Amino acid sequence: MQTHAVSPWHNLRLNAEGIVEGGIFLASPNCDARPATADIELVVIHNISLPPGEFGGPGVTNLFTNRLDPSAHPYYAGIAHLRVSAHFLIRRDGCLLQFVPCCMRAWHAGESSWRGRARCNDFSLGIEMEGADDVPFADAQYVTLERLTALLLITYPSISAIAGHEDIAPLRKSDPGPCFDWLRYRAGLVHNVGFRV
Ligand SMILES: [Zn+2]
Repeated sequence: MQTHAVSPWHNLRLNAEGIVEGGIFLASPNCDARPATADIELVVIHNISLPPGEFGGPGVTNLFTNRLDPSAHPYYAGIAHLRVSAHFLIRRDGCLLQFVPCCMRAWHAGESSWRGRARCNDFSLGIEMEGADDVPFADAQYVTLERLTALLLITYPSISAIAGHEDIAPLRKSDPGPCFDWLRYRAGLVHNVGFRV
């Protein structure tokens, strides 16, 4: 008998505060208000792992909540001072974590530009895929990513594009990298919401 794994994130809902119900919310202090004139127009896909290339530990959540111990790993000494965040993190097993409500501005893009418009944090949502540029992402991550993105596209009709961090900061960033399957992702969105971006 064939069995089908059902993602626990199938029935995602976004509440009035811009927090996904059914996900895990860990509030990051690294956020502020969006400019009054800025709609949410862009979704930015990233990858991250801490230490780099190691998955499953608390490094990323600690970084986004300013709890990274600089002595816990040699790499951490150089980044523990950073004040960064993303709206979402999708773990290798597809687990969804959120750090910043969608209505707030997360600090994920840094110096960036999209179609001639600077400061992408103002008008974007940031989604981190736990991973590395040279490691394929897990099936469960695409499942959650597609469902999350579908929810965001439905909730925020002002979103008109999805880009990689490497697309909005090409001189500084290489994520999500060549292993991220854009074709699969976009096909999944068309399947889920009929949305082409
Ligand atoms: Zn990034």
